[in-house]
Formats: sequence, C-alpha cells, structure tokens
Amino acid sequence: MMSLLGELNRTDLAPLGREMHRFAAELFPICRSITGKGIRETLGRIQSKIPLQTLEVPSGTQVFDWTVPKEWNIHDAYIADPSGKRVVDFQKSNLHVLNYSVPVNERMPLSNLKGHLHTIPEHPDWIPYRTSYYKEDWGFCLSHHQMTRLEDGEYTVCIDSTLREGHLTYGECYLAGRSSEEILISSHACHPSLANDNLSGLAVATFLARHLAGRDLRYSYRFLFLPGTIGAITWLSRNREAVGRIRNGLVLTCIGDAGGFHYKKSRRGNGEIDRAAAHVLRHCGEPAEVLEFSPYGYDERQYCSPGFNLPVGCLMRSVWGTFPEYHTSADNLDFIRPLSLANSLRVCTAILDVLENNRCYRNERPYCEPQLGRRGLYETTGGEVGGEEIMARLWVLNLSDGQHTLLDIAEQSGIVFSRIWAAADLLCRKGLLSVASDEQVKSTV
Ligand code: ZN
Repeated sequence: MMSLLGELNRTDLAPLGREMHRFAAELFPICRSITGKGIRETLGRIQSKIPLQTLEVPSGTQVFDWTVPKEWNIHDAYIADPSGKRVVDFQKSNLHVLNYSVPVNERMPLSNLKGHLHTIPEHPDWIPYRTSYYKEDWGFCLSHHQMTRLEDGEYTVCIDSTLREGHLTYGECYLAGRSSEEILISSHACHPSLANDNLSGLAVATFLARHLAGRDLRYSYRFLFLPGTIGAITWLSRNREAVGRIRNGLVLTCIGDAGGFHYKKSRRGNGEIDRAAAHVLRHCGEPAEVLEFSPYGYDERQYCSPGFNLPVGCLMRSVWGTFPEYHTSADNLDFIRPLSLANSLRVCTAILDVLENNRCYRNERPYCEPQLGRRGLYETTGGEVGGEEIMARLWVLNLSDGQHTLLDIAEQSGIVFSRIWAAADLLCRKGLLSVASDEQVKSTV
C-alpha cells in the first residue's frame, strides 16, 4: 500500500506553486492554435519535464464526422494607420489576430476594416480571444478603447500566415502501472496567451505526470495534451481499441485561478471518478461544488459521447464562461496563482490516491468486535483527532465484508478517505484485515 499524497502533504506548496507558475509563464507567449508550430513548441517544453511522445496526423484525415484541418502558422500581423504606424500589432499580443486567420495584405477604409474587428465593449481595456478554425476568415481582436481611437482613413491590414496541408500534433505521456487498466488525464493545449483556460491545465497535468513518474502505480496513466475538440476526436478515432482499458479519467482546465473547485460529473454520473472527486472536494478545505454532466464544455464532451460513455469528469476552479476574464487578455499570468496551482495539483493527487487505494477488504475476525484495546488499537496515535481515528478503525472493521470499498466506507462514515485508508493499513498490519481481490472491487463500483 502506498500514498501518492503523503509526500505532497508534507511539502511546502509555495515553492512548488511558484515553479508551476514559472512553467505557465514560459508557455504564455507562444502563439498556440489547434495545429502548427505553437502547439509543437508547447509540447516540446512539456517534454523537457516528462516523457512525452508527440504524434502527427496529416491534414485531411477523416476522424469520425470531422476532418483534420489544414495546418496554420503565423509569422506576423498588424494594422497600420494612414501614416504607416502599427496601431494593432501581433508582436505585442498574439490575441490580436483572429486565430486561424487566412493571409491578407490589403489597404481598405476604416468602414470596411470594422467588419473584421472584434472588441468587448463591456470590458473596454481587454482584448478578446476569437477563433475561426472551420470557416476561412480573417480578423483582428483589440480593446474597445483601441478601436474607438481609430480615425477614418485608409488602413493597411497584413496577416502573414499560412494555411496549408500539414499535420495536427498532440502529445501522449504513458506511465505504466501494475495493471494495464488506465487512468486518462486530458488537457487541451491549443489556446495562445491565455493563462487559466489552458496553461493552468497544462501545468497541473505536467506536474502531476512528473509526480507519478517512476512510482510503483496500481493503474497505468495516460496523459493527453491535445488541441481542444479536434484533438480529442482524433485521439479517440485512432485509439478505439485502447478505450476499453480506460477505467477513469479527468479533463483538467481553468484550474489555476483564485476561485473554488468545480467538478463536472461524467455522463455516467456515478462512476468511481465521480465519487472519488466529490469525496476529495468535500474534504479539501476550499470551497467546492459538484456539477451534473452536460454535453457542453471541454473534451469530456467527446469522452462522454454516447458511443464511448467513458467515466471521465472535468475538474476546474472557476467554470469556463462564468468569469469575465474567460477568453480575454485579462486571463493573464496575474489571474492564475501559484498557490492555487499547487493546491490543484494536491487535489488531483488526492483523487488519484483514492483510485489507487480503493479496494475491498475482509475482516479476519468478523464474529463480534475484535478486542482492540489488547492490540493497542483503542488508543490514538495523534491525540486531538483521536475520536475519528478510532471511529475509522471501527468503520473499516464493520464494513470490510468483501463488498464495501474503502470509498464506500469513507462516504458512509463521513471520514476522509486518507484516514480510512490509514486505518485499513494499520488493521492489515495487525492481522485483523486482509485485501479482498481487486476483482471484487469491480463488481461494487
Ligand atoms: Zn477556451
């Protein structure tokens, strides 16, 4: 028996959080998209931290009802005013260009240009993030203030981009465990300079993989770093036979801001991951809410499509679309917090700890209570929380009939899983408890 969490609970999370934030800052300036050099460079930097395999799928490949698009790359883009001065400049923020804009090099009056400009009047200092992946278009995004300062006249618009046959790129990090059954961790890696929506998920997933790498694990772990939607669809279409091995999974996104946690249940609603996440959040010491499944959101939409119906939920802090900074330049490196990132990593690890250690046990002395005092089990090891420590032992002994998992016992007793697990571990060492087979766990979850 082992705990993935123990070490993180003993570590000072502040320096770890700063390291995670530095990693997000390193990725921040890269102009990512669903294909192209930006996502390749991002995967390359993730590869410097964890063993990551990158895969390339040619444009035009049919993936279920979708087609892998042409590859988009961008070198420069600007709007120059009648005097030739750059008034909107891609070099200052990659959000300024409608992501996937086709190349353009034209002069036009402001009145024509305005049809290609995107702003957020309610937040006049912020630049919106807009995309046009599946419809060929071009455009610029700028702050509303910037737009209102533009005077009438002839403007030069230049987007030096390419949209050609190429590849879709994604990354896979596989950590082999004792079982070939897998836990899937998926993050989208296609957003450009946006911190919470994208980089926080990449940072938490990368550091989670680093934390697990080299450990003796019960399950095998597959970390996916994909372009949103089309990446998950592509992966599922190329890995149909592997899907049967996925025992549980999490999509990680918007997980670095100061907000409380939100866990969106899988389509199944009562999978082991749904129960483990809800349990950990109930005890995590931060505000947390569990949300029902809906067919909108991130890549859980694909994993939970009816043909797959995988037990994959989505862990967030603030929910996408509900915070004003979402998909704007205000989702920047100040919007994500080092401690939020580190605590998100801790919560993810706690959820995996439940999955790794959730088993059925059998009470070796089920006829009446065994005499705990004689074995030193009626005393506490810690002191102040002793009542609960002893209650955990009593709950584990009572419900260990080969039918209840430790998570069942944690839920029924209201005691945190890590304490239930510690009680089971101690009772095993005292000869009062033994592990029922993992096969029996399957029948109860
Ligand atoms: Zn997004």
